Amino acid sequence: MSASNFDVIVIGAGITGLTAAKHTTQQGLATASIEALLFGGLVININELDPAPPGGHVSGTDLASNLMLEITELGAATLSETVTALARDGDFLSVVTDAGQHRARAVIVASGAKLKRLGIPGEAEFEHKGVSQCADCDGPMYKDEDVVVVGGGDSALQEALVLANYCRRVHLVHRGARFRARRHLIDAVAARANIRPVWNTVAEEVLGAQMVNKVRVRNVGSGQTTEIPCAGLFAYIGLAPDCAFAPPEVKRDADGFLVTDTSLQTAMAGVFAAGAVRSGYGGMLTDAVAEAETAAAAACARLGKR
Ligand code: NAP
Repeated sequence: MSASNFDVIVIGAGITGLTAAKHTTQQGLATASIEALLFGGLVININELDPAPPGGHVSGTDLASNLMLEITELGAATLSETVTALARDGDFLSVVTDAGQHRARAVIVASGAKLKRLGIPGEAEFEHKGVSQCADCDGPMYKDEDVVVVGGGDSALQEALVLANYCRRVHLVHRGARFRARRHLIDAVAARANIRPVWNTVAEEVLGAQMVNKVRVRNVGSGQTTEIPCAGLFAYIGLAPDCAFAPPEVKRDADGFLVTDTSLQTAMAGVFAAGAVRSGYGGMLTDAVAEAETAAAAACARLGKR
């Protein structure tokens, strides 16, 4: 089992983690960026960032790749490992991964969140056979087809708009009577003739043969069930935090997101949290960057750096 020591370990290499790692390496701190999956996080699924970052429109992949290049050039260690545990180890913090154990004097948890699943029959069975959670990647496969999108927040509406560029019709199934998304997304959806809101309705089952061919839905008021013929189902019903490795000492809110103070330090001294894994995260890319900078500044201050 390999062991290595750093000043700072950043867990997660989405935009939040990469931004935090950039700041700590710029301050001369030996930094490791650990990521289990693809560097870049959820943002790499997005072709056009909203709002656009300073400097104009770039894709999520470009933004993440540029940050990755920057932290590598600054000298951060980039480790493709899965973090399984975080614990105190004397004056250090120990980060255990599937490849070994690392130690640091400060840890920034930026492990983000995963899109939640509906948990209905057929969802797992038809994964990659019509069930998807990436409209930008899979949208072109549904050209001139009908699809169902579930949810009423920013993600559902944003992704419905992407799918509407390809699909014959997007059935936007929402359990409520109004969307909670930002106004400009609601207006954009209302202006698209091929997006059909289906109010007060939940998805109950994904049906098909080799591939999805319909979704059974139920009106929550009348209880009536109907089937929507479609080739795909995209659920955007919110996020679940990705932080099972953090010990109970790191306090969570009722939904499992990590609780921090104003410097973004968690209840475990020396452990900071930023971005989608954090309770109270604003949800915008600008919030992710601002939180990364705050957590990195607090970690630097703890280690005696400006
Ligand atoms: P969200 O804001 O939590 O919305 C989830 C939606 O799914 C809600 O409309 C909710 O209904 C519905 N829902 C939840 N559980 C459900 C279930 N079991 N069955 C059916 N419907 C269910 O999640 P989100 O849209 O993924 O957004 C998450 C965060 O990311 C937000 O802060 C958002 O602003 C942010 N975001 C930002 C951008 C951007 O930067 N441009 C893009 C996308 C998202 P109710 O309304 O009835 O509760």
